[in-house]
Amino acid sequence: MSRRRARDLGPCAYCGQPATTEDHVPPRGMFSKRMPNKPWVPSCDPCNSGASKDDEYMQRLSMLWGADCSQDAIEVGEKFMRSLEYPEAKGLQTEVRRSLSPLEDEKLFPGGINMALKGERLARVTDKLVRGWFFRLTGKRFPASYGFPKHMCGQKGHSLYAANESLIESFPATVFGDKAFSYRVAFSANDEFLSCWRFEFYGVFKIMAYSVLDQGDQFRIIDLRSHDQTAAPLK
Ligand SMILES: [Zn+2]
Repeated sequence: MSRRRARDLGPCAYCGQPATTEDHVPPRGMFSKRMPNKPWVPSCDPCNSGASKDDEYMQRLSMLWGADCSQDAIEVGEKFMRSLEYPEAKGLQTEVRRSLSPLEDEKLFPGGINMALKGERLARVTDKLVRGWFFRLTGKRFPASYGFPKHMCGQKGHSLYAANESLIESFPATVFGDKAFSYRVAFSANDEFLSCWRFEFYGVFKIMAYSVLDQGDQFRIIDLRSHDQTAAPLK
């Protein structure tokens, strides 16, 4: 986390308050030291709190995934192994596995689709990816009525989610590092705040995420089958 004068950073990408820090999206622990220009958004202190835990968490996940097709994954994994040599690292693996257990309070979205992502920390990281990257690409923040359901790729669900997951693969990917992180995105042509995202970590770990209008009686989600989308940033 680097600190600068608030006036240099502008408003927080998440809440609009004056930003005081750089919040990396995804956490910079995902990348090897050598990677320049790790992507970030301006953030206030409260919205950025917990970032160092996100960092650690993603670093540990990279080990569990066993990705060896990305130089970033290899270097981050080696760093993790070195950290295990410290005495205080006892029980670290157990803690990591526990962090991947299902959320108890999984939200059920209309249509009976359980969109919860296992692991509270991973869900938090994914939320920030959607909100942070939306801000980076459009300069806008989501109104409070929008929610961010997400799921692992390949998870069974409603046919709309399966169709979106398949269709977004043909969208261009923006890649960072040596396949460390990539995103694909589609924005709705009718509602700029409806979007569909596909995130990939180290080329092996894949997550679908959405911004949806969630007002109890009203639930709207982008449908890529209806060509209600634009691949280009809205800026
Ligand atoms: Zn904030």
